[in-house]
Amino acid sequence: MNIDRFRVRSGDRSAITRHSASYTSGLRDKEAAARQLQEGVAHLEQRLELLHAQAEHALLLVFQGMDASGKDGAIKHVMSGVNPIFTEVHAFKAPSSDELAHDYLWRAARALPARGTIGIFDRSYYEDVIVVRVHPEILASQHLPRACRGPKIWKERYEDIRGFERHLVRNGTTIRKFFFHVSRQEQQRRLVERFDDPEKNWKFSARDVRERQHWNAYMNAYREAIVATSSEFAPWYIVPADHKWFARLVVAEVINQTLDKMALKTPRLTPTEKRNLMAVRRQLMA
Ligand code: AMP
Ligand code: MG
Repeated sequence: MNIDRFRVRSGDRSAITRHSASYTSGLRDKEAAARQLQEGVAHLEQRLELLHAQAEHALLLVFQGMDASGKDGAIKHVMSGVNPIFTEVHAFKAPSSDELAHDYLWRAARALPARGTIGIFDRSYYEDVIVVRVHPEILASQHLPRACRGPKIWKERYEDIRGFERHLVRNGTTIRKFFFHVSRQEQQRRLVERFDDPEKNWKFSARDVRERQHWNAYMNAYREAIVATSSEFAPWYIVPADHKWFARLVVAEVINQTLDKMALKTPRLTPTEKRNLMAVRRQLMA
């Protein structure tokens, strides 16, 4: 799959709407897609073994999207075959009082993946330029000194996020970011299902319905944030998400192509290490 068409080039304001949310790149067959996803997951498993053995690189995957955009399901499916030892998922909710007592990147920094592992952020520090931008009262609750919440705050946060990500990349963390692009109609359909299907009632939240009223403000906040923070070193991908099976395929493909580019190899021993290894083997056999 050509994933490049979903990647946002820095400054490209039209990227979010380049493809419709229901885009499937000509694929129509759900079963074929499921098979392809399965192959993708198997490949991913192998690459992650190498990532882990080499223990130099970390992989950070950021998932953002409106409620019911399907990011949780995608995380579950794409990671289904992966050894849990290699991965850690963090879901970022409204910050606790302890978290609010620190800068907004603090809790993200504490959750970053170690070398040899993959970290999944289900929402992230991007909420601090999205939901917080849509709702100024949340910003007011962040205990910032007056001088730190002037009119340039969003531009400064984009800058700092870029700097934070560049720092991580320079230290061996590869970053890929996904925006699950769901249409307003499809989101409505999924939310209605949460009311009507007893199996899904638990997911229902009055808040999600309220947030729909701010749809355009959210889309603007997403556009601004994505355009300002998509870079060569930490690109955003716009994932058409009205068809869950297609969104999952795109995510699996981006992760796999990213890992393939990382030149992962099983670590080889130096001659000295090899001699030591053989000495221990002889000991074991004696
Ligand atoms: P969910 O992902 O559906 O469990 O919802 C988590 C909620 O926490 C979402 O409504 C987010 O917008 C909200 N949230 C996440 N991070 C922040 C933040 N930094 N400030 C305020 N709300 C946040
Ligand atoms: Mg939700």
